[in-house]
Amino acid sequence: MVMYKADDWKDLDRERILCIQKQLIDWYEKNHRKLPWRETRDPYHIWVSEVMLQQTRVDTVIPYFLNFIGKFPTIEVLAQAHEEEVLKAWEGLGYYSRVRNLQRGAKVVMSQYGGLVPKELQEIKKIPGIGPYTAGAILSIAYDKAVPAVDGNVMRVFSRLFCIDYDISDGKTRREMEQIGNVVVPEENPSFFNQGLMELGALICTPLSPKCIACPVYGQCRAAQKGIQNELPIKKKKQAVKEVELEVALAWKEDKVLLMKRPTEGLLASLWTFPSAVREEGWEPGNSIIQELKEQYGMTVENIAYLFDAHHVFTHLKWNMKVYGCNLASEEKLEYPQVQWVTLDEIKDYAIPTAFKKVLNKIKR
Ligand code: SF4
Repeated sequence: MVMYKADDWKDLDRERILCIQKQLIDWYEKNHRKLPWRETRDPYHIWVSEVMLQQTRVDTVIPYFLNFIGKFPTIEVLAQAHEEEVLKAWEGLGYYSRVRNLQRGAKVVMSQYGGLVPKELQEIKKIPGIGPYTAGAILSIAYDKAVPAVDGNVMRVFSRLFCIDYDISDGKTRREMEQIGNVVVPEENPSFFNQGLMELGALICTPLSPKCIACPVYGQCRAAQKGIQNELPIKKKKQAVKEVELEVALAWKEDKVLLMKRPTEGLLASLWTFPSAVREEGWEPGNSIIQELKEQYGMTVENIAYLFDAHHVFTHLKWNMKVYGCNLASEEKLEYPQVQWVTLDEIKDYAIPTAFKKVLNKIKR
């Protein structure tokens, strides 16, 4: 196919770079959306917003950000907070490892950096959960350092602007893009430049049908000049979604239902869910969860009845859940897993992941 190979960006002349910098900064200054995390230069607040914005839309993030900063206004407060409380504030945002790493990072900042987010790239990258993108965003926005912040949006813009045909799902391409960032991010106002790139990727240089007519760097864009903006970036086919058949138990003891706390590692770690089991092939419907309750929880149940289906899609995984209601007949105390019997009203005090919120909402209806 196309076009310029990635090495071409190394031939960029100084004048063109200056032009891109100026046009993008001017455009950002006049056109950027007013967002709560743009009202501050507090590195912690910027850190929280960048972590929330990974994999999540801006509109969704705004109320979560305001609530989170309201509850944990400083690194110190977050570092000292109970994990359960932090997970609760994240409930519904998904990808919970992000917030666990955020809190882990806050503890490291408190213990090793006197509560101040480091200003140097080599130091900030040592903090758990801060990768090259988040480091670049914090350093440029909070501290005015000329460090690139290259995420999927920025890679898309660079692919088009410099006509690069490398596969953006390949890790090597990201490093190449970061080198481009090192060349194009200006010493003067790197904050607006990086945010301008992010904003351009979000509003104008969108994945489908980029709005080139409205683009501030249209005159500098090699893909637009060649009319191939819709062919870029190159991205290999998505990984297939694996489907998992689950049985979920709503086990009742009078007006209370059984919740279990998931292990501290793995998918949905440390969150509260209803007990579930992968459906064993060839088994009678409901038997997998009955067996799970018996072996893992020491519980015998009766009056088991199928209630409804629920589905949830994670990045590369889809859960097809068959939900069963049942009553507790007998229980013996087992050490593991950690369980609680709670009324439907009390469930709101627990951090429940979206997959099980869907089940909960169906029960309430
Ligand atoms: S001109 Fe079009 S393709 Fe090029 S950067 Fe702007 S929006 Fe993207």
